[in-house]
Amino acid sequence: MSGKGGRRHVPIPIGTRFGRRVVVGPPVCMPRTDDHGAYVYYRVRCDCGAEQPIRVTSLRMGHSHRCQACCNRERREAGEAKRALA
Ligand SMILES: [Zn+2]
Repeated sequence: MSGKGGRRHVPIPIGTRFGRRVVVGPPVCMPRTDDHGAYVYYRVRCDCGAEQPIRVTSLRMGHSHRCQACCNRERREAGEAKRALA
């Protein structure tokens, strides 16, 4: 990853797992509103069954390895665990 020339998108194979999420569809290009090229999205399915298109950069950077519902649930459970310890 050295700055310039890094525009080539290396596809992620279907079935690749990122945390709780698995890639279930081919890459889809969506143009950016600010005219700086396009984002690549992949359709991913969470272990809980929720499917959503996620930006490939988010997946690669580790930002979207579970869906919002799982994120909320884990946060709630973490809060309950903390209260149980107190
Ligand atoms: Zn989920």
